[in-house]
Amino acid sequence: MSAASVAPGWELVVGLEVHVELSTATKLFCGCANRFGDEPNTNVCPVCLGLPGSLPVVNAAAVEYAMRLGRALSCTVRPSVFSRKNYFYPDMPKDYQISQYDLPTNVDGELVLPDGTRVGIERAHIEEDTGKSTHVGEGGRIHGADYSLVDYNRAGVPLVEIVSRPDIRSAEQARAYVNELRAILVTIGVSDARMEEGSLRVDANVSVRPAGSDELRTRCEIKNINSVRSLGRAIEYEARRHVELYEAGERPVQETRHWHEDEGRTTSGRSKEEAEDYRYFPEPDLVPLVPSADEVAAIDASLPALPARRRAALAEAAGVAPAEVAVLVDRGQDTFALAAIAEGADPARVLVRIENDLAVDDWSRVSPAAFAALVSMETSGELTASQARTVLAEMVAGGGDPATIAARLGFEAMDAGELEAVVDAVIATHPDEWARFVGGDDKDRKKMAGFFTGQVMKATRGQADGRRVAEILGRRAAR
Ligand code: ZN
Ligand code: MN
Repeated sequence: MSAASVAPGWELVVGLEVHVELSTATKLFCGCANRFGDEPNTNVCPVCLGLPGSLPVVNAAAVEYAMRLGRALSCTVRPSVFSRKNYFYPDMPKDYQISQYDLPTNVDGELVLPDGTRVGIERAHIEEDTGKSTHVGEGGRIHGADYSLVDYNRAGVPLVEIVSRPDIRSAEQARAYVNELRAILVTIGVSDARMEEGSLRVDANVSVRPAGSDELRTRCEIKNINSVRSLGRAIEYEARRHVELYEAGERPVQETRHWHEDEGRTTSGRSKEEAEDYRYFPEPDLVPLVPSADEVAAIDASLPALPARRRAALAEAAGVAPAEVAVLVDRGQDTFALAAIAEGADPARVLVRIENDLAVDDWSRVSPAAFAALVSMETSGELTASQARTVLAEMVAGGGDPATIAARLGFEAMDAGELEAVVDAVIATHPDEWARFVGGDDKDRKKMAGFFTGQVMKATRGQADGRRVAEILGRRAAR
């Protein structure tokens, strides 16, 4: 959706807050297992249950993961202080959440979308997760529930909350942001980033403004977004709601709103609390985190190549735009593609064959060299496109050399003279169609080209190379 399609004359302004559960072995401040899906209330201890007299001890691995994420988002990693964020909720047994407030670990980064858009990252701070409430009764909401159950296995699981700047201008960009963030998280190994299991949760701050202005109007924060698809729908709905209010002479109120996937709309939640409502103060039981320059340098050195850099490398080798290789990088097939291109295979054909025909779980039996040989057989006309795909499917299933497989399948290259003879025979049997091909307008010619190619394919049982057929037809028509 382009920004203008919210409504003519209006621009969409979105910032995202993403909570990511870190995949450490244990929780943030105790030794309990950090594991999804266990029997409720089995991974608990006095610390994560907030029992009197218990004291938190910070998990070094969680801090390292958070700094890795910060550096992967080009943030400055800085000395930080844990604070208490005070509020009451049954799934938070201490009645406060240990988070970071004015001195977060990571600040001032950016995330670059595949289309080149840069989205600023204001901060990425460390905090603990809450427990999980289940409201039993009609609707599954706290209002009208018969009773509620609380599972504290999640209480104290390490989180990083990544707060973007309001730099996102379309629902499509918002989806791309979350997809890119997930790819980064998985690449650097700090989270499995599964939205469906709640290990990645997205809240969207949405507002609109007259196109061309740079003001920031009242925003609403949408919660309960369970998929990337829902994120796009929720943003579009909310933006339209704001525009309708403004155009009716009203204005939205700042509040949190819930997204209802089944109804396709948001409803009012609570009016947005301000930071002072939480009575933040420094956590007296924890010391500040002060990473040394050496620690940060070691993290930088250990980071693998990130998706943006991998896209750039493959795009450059293939001579295309980075967005065109995003799927291959997502699938982790970029190294393979680079190797095949280095073997001398045609880059464009390499990308097409991988994207369309190696979309399989296991393509490990296909070596880059054998794949490059197959692509070269196709581009030289030894194999037709459909034959190349058949041979590749055999290679995926059992490995092997494309020339040997092609010979076994009887995919002999058709002799050039033989093919010309077949084309001539087909032309001779269909004089009316041929007249339309030679004398017709563009549309007719295109239609008849399809007809003749089909006839030649039938006559050769699919052995003919479609591009050669087109070339011969063109030559015959020009005579
Ligand atoms: Zn515990
Ligand atoms: Mn948070």
